Amino acid sequence: MEAHTATEPEKSRQPSAHDLEVLSRQLGRPVRDVVEIPARCVCGNPLVAATAPRLGNGTPFPTTFYLTHPVITSAVSRLEAAGLMNEMNERLTSDEPLAAAYRAAHEDYLAARAGIGERAGIGAVPEIDGISAGGMPTRVKCLHVLVGHSLAAGPGVNPLGDEAIAGISEWWTADRCYCDGAWDTAGEAPSRDLSRHGPQGLPDIVGRPAPVRKTSRSPETSQ
Ligand SMILES: [Zn+2]
Repeated sequence: MEAHTATEPEKSRQPSAHDLEVLSRQLGRPVRDVVEIPARCVCGNPLVAATAPRLGNGTPFPTTFYLTHPVITSAVSRLEAAGLMNEMNERLTSDEPLAAAYRAAHEDYLAARAGIGERAGIGAVPEIDGISAGGMPTRVKCLHVLVGHSLAAGPGVNPLGDEAIAGISEWWTADRCYCDGAWDTAGEAPSRDLSRHGPQGLPDIVGRPAPVRKTSRSPETSQ
């Protein structure tokens, strides 16, 4: 809290207990290793969670910015389903200014992650040096990652994340609160460790799907 700067939003980057509960409700699972809330709804609820670059169990984790707001995640999924990533990837091969801006976004991502790691007291994570997320610096593999980065960094940093945000304006815009009814607010917040991370932004470095909780499933057990 002592590191207050003029560019800070009106709410703290530091996740409160309430933030963590809202995140677990937004995602339908408990959150782990969230160290900052880099983007918030106008009402104050989290839009993006920042995960530590090294998880509590020691695993390096390159995907720093995780989009959590269900209204935004589903809107971005619509863009993905409509084939926007293919179109972006084609443009990245032919539009050099765009490709350069996207490379710069990759560098910004790495610098932002280093800052988050530093503030969280984690320090350098050499295993993921130069590795960002979402397909950066040359490809688009996950629009959610790019939108999470754009929301965290603000406009003008990630050109393709900014484009995706513009592309979902029919469903979500930054100036309005879309939280009401967007997730279950009744009952207990999810507390079982169902999975560490969802399909969004699987850590490429691991080269395999994110760990899923092993459960002994018997056919007669309903989920
Ligand atoms: Zn809201």
